[in-house]
Amino acid sequence: MSNVHEQETLHIREQVELAPLTTIQIGGPARFFAAARSRPHLVALIDWARRHDHNFFILGGGSNLLFDDNGYDGLVIHMQLKGVTQQTTDRGKVRLRAAAGENWDAFVAHCVTQNLAGLTCLSGIPGCVGAAPIQNIGAYGQEVAQTLHQVEILDLDRNQTRILDNRECAFAYRDSIFKRALRNRAVVTAVSFDLTPNGRPTLAYPDLVKRLGADATLTQVRETVLAVRREKSMVADPADPNARSCGSFFTNPIISATAYAAFKTRCPQTHPAWPQDADRVKLSAAWLIERAGFHKGWVAGRAGLSEKHCLALINRNQAKASDVIALKKDIQRGVFETFGIELEPEPLLLSQGLN
Ligand SMILES: Cc1cc2nc3c(=O)[nH]c(=O)nc-3n(C[C@H](O)[C@H](O)[C@H](O)COP(=O)(O)OP(=O)(O)OC[C@H]3O[C@@H](n4cnc5c(N)ncnc54)[C@H](O)[C@@H]3O)c2cc1C
Repeated sequence: MSNVHEQETLHIREQVELAPLTTIQIGGPARFFAAARSRPHLVALIDWARRHDHNFFILGGGSNLLFDDNGYDGLVIHMQLKGVTQQTTDRGKVRLRAAAGENWDAFVAHCVTQNLAGLTCLSGIPGCVGAAPIQNIGAYGQEVAQTLHQVEILDLDRNQTRILDNRECAFAYRDSIFKRALRNRAVVTAVSFDLTPNGRPTLAYPDLVKRLGADATLTQVRETVLAVRREKSMVADPADPNARSCGSFFTNPIISATAYAAFKTRCPQTHPAWPQDADRVKLSAAWLIERAGFHKGWVAGRAGLSEKHCLALINRNQAKASDVIALKKDIQRGVFETFGIELEPEPLLLSQGLN
């Protein structure tokens, strides 16, 4: 079969703009692009890229990455595997298995409608189910690691399906094996969660506790989480310029007890800090950024900071990846000079020159 014919059969298009497929709306074209709608199609696309010596990249909802202005020189595979199945476990839980291309928030809404507890506080996070375990998404006192049962992957080394249980995923704060040992070596094809039928919602976050009584239902918690997120422009909304972002651009730094002692000498005033264990303390990246002088609504040419949330770097008006990266570097420099703390970006930055 000729390559042209093969590309047609696999529905591979050329020069497809990536910016509209991302929440920050930045990025040049993909040299090759295809939506994977079935597992055999996904496998065939990866095989095609390998045989033709092209890089390939798995794209979900585009809410946690920054493509390069020159686009992607390879095959972008848009994850579109769909389907949700349900079964009861012998421990009284309900196990939901969702394919990687399912929309995350629609999946959470489905769980809440069925009165299944375990994911409600993660309402409104943009993106797909398949990306949820990658950085162990979390918000308002909950993270997927708490209820995730298994992750089904396509193991790219062995070219076969593999199942990882929760423990094997090595989940930590915004971290997992998929960002480390399995980086670029696994495609998530489905994720399953064990949820509690008629369970109580998790109310661990002060803002939620303040707004809701102790006996709030899952539906009330979901609605409140969505309302709080909308107030902060932390839901995907193309009409809201403050939401034209990758969400939080930096993770909260976790530092050693020694580094924390040094930090306190530079910063004697009251500051948010959460002990992680005997040796480590988590600081608030938003607090550090604001106190280093980068306030909400900060303008840096075409890029800037959200008016609602100083952790969200936004595309104000036709920004390029290079504008966002210049602002990222300014903020990192400012925070380091003020507090001696290094901020790490949360989204994937897709260019050699971006880091
Ligand atoms: C407004 C806004 C608010 C946000 N709020 C939160 C929040 O509260 N908490 C939080 O944790 N995150 C938050 N995020 C970040 C983001 O939504 C999550 O990280 C989300 O899980 C990313 O999903 P995605 O499908 O968009 O992934 P993408 O951005 O498409 O991809 C991100 C990374 O995951 C990889 N990937 C995606 N799918 C797969 C797959 N099937 N197999 C292998 N690798 C894959 C990609 O290759 C890439 O490396 C927010 C983002 C935005 C824009």
